[in-house]
Formats: sequence, C-alpha cells, structure tokens
Amino acid sequence: MTTTSAEEMRKALLAGAFQMPSVQTMVSRKSSVTNAFVNAVIPVVPPTLEEIEEALGILKIDPDDVRCVYCGDKASEWDHLRPLVLNRRPTGYISEIGNLVPACGKCNQSKGNKPWRTWMLSKAKLSPAGRGIANLESRVAKIEAFENWRPSSKIDFVAILGQAEWDQYWKLCEDVIAEMAEAQQVADKLKDRIVAAVKGKKASGA
Ligand SMILES: [Zn+2]
Repeated sequence: MTTTSAEEMRKALLAGAFQMPSVQTMVSRKSSVTNAFVNAVIPVVPPTLEEIEEALGILKIDPDDVRCVYCGDKASEWDHLRPLVLNRRPTGYISEIGNLVPACGKCNQSKGNKPWRTWMLSKAKLSPAGRGIANLESRVAKIEAFENWRPSSKIDFVAILGQAEWDQYWKLCEDVIAEMAEAQQVADKLKDRIVAAVKGKKASGA
C-alpha cells in the first residue's frame, strides 16, 4: 500500500515538474491577426511630460516606483484601460494616455478584454479580488478619478472612412485568417508524415 502511494506521489511530482511549451498553430494566431489589423489602423497619441505627470498624480503613483493600478505590484507595462478589440473588431478606443494605466503582467493577462471594474471585483483567475488584494475600493476610486480626468474618445471609423472601405479592410483581415487556416491544414498533413517518419526511425532503431 505504502509503495503504491509513494509511486503515485513520484508520478504526480514528475508530471507537475514538466511543462510542454504551448503549441502555437496558425489557427491559434487568429486573435493576434485581428489585433494586428486593429493596431495597424488606430492612432497612437504619445503623451506630453505634463500629461504623464498629471496622470501619475491622479493615480497617486510615484514616477520613481511605478505600480500596477489594479493590484499595487510593480508595473511592467501600460495597459489599455478600455479594450481596443472586442468580438474581433475595434471598439473605437485608442492608445492615448487617458486610456492607458500602469499594470503588472499578471493583471494585464488576467484582465484581457474585460471591462476593468467588473474584472477587478470578479473572482477571475489572477484578478485583484481573486488574489485577495487589499484596498480594492480605493484602487477602484483612483481609476474612476482617472476616467473622469480624460473620458476616452471613441472613434467612429465608419463616419471617417465610409462603410465600404471600412468593410473592405475587415474583409482583408478575414482573408488572411482564412489563408492561415488553409496553411494550417497543409501543415497538419506534413506534420503527420514527419511524425510517422520519426517514429519509424525509432522503431527500426536507426
Ligand atoms: Zn497588477
């Protein structure tokens, strides 16, 4: 009995020690392609130093020690407060200081495209509430003050470009995704043959 459980523990330990890198296929790049198409057309507005100072002031962040607005960990990036992409289409929000806040990698990954307040207070994996982060209310209040400072401008793409040209651009995106899916099918077939050849070699001891 004891040997069995020791053996099971050893197996569990070994299985937990290894992690296969996630396999990126062309199909799993679908959202990356969409993101690229969105990012390729939306404006990026660099802030002035005065705007950075003002933003940090509202968020009560020391420029010497920039912290994640959501959880207080060391920030590693400035994250879009309101998502640029939703349901594979641009939301109209852009990269401008009023829509950017310092965040840590954990929060950024966990938040994804979810609305910030709902996500912060949800029990989503690695969300601030889920991680039991202290002072959530005052963190939310700071971000609300920030939102009121610069209510983000939402772009009306169709009004600027016209429906036809805008639709054509997204057709281009769909075409790229469709071609990648086709390429994936070719890759799958080649991979099957490659795997079979490698296995055959191993079996024959070559
Ligand atoms: Zn964080």
